[in-house]
Amino acid sequence: MKLVYSHQNPLMVHNIANVIENQGISCQVRNEMIISVMGEGAGFDAWPEIWVKDEFVQVAVEIVNAALRQAKHNTNWYCDACGELNESTFEVCWSCHSEGEP
Ligand SMILES: [Zn+2]
Repeated sequence: MKLVYSHQNPLMVHNIANVIENQGISCQVRNEMIISVMGEGAGFDAWPEIWVKDEFVQVAVEIVNAALRQAKHNTNWYCDACGELNESTFEVCWSCHSEGEP
């Protein structure tokens, strides 16, 4: 088993785990219980983690990266150039027309 993803937010980890499983790869979420027991202020060690079997690591990492790109695309973003908040549907800043991501 190898770790392919970890995030402070358990919901985020669950979303990613679902995406991986939807691709037919079984994965295991670890550290969930620790989060609920320790609550806020838990350190990095207590972040929930997604683990997959060694033979699935490469494809799982690709799925994670694709899912993260997707998630980023569906999130409101701040313009690097002028600092305005943009809706996720905007490809370029509504205010200064610069692209949010390089
Ligand atoms: Zn801008």
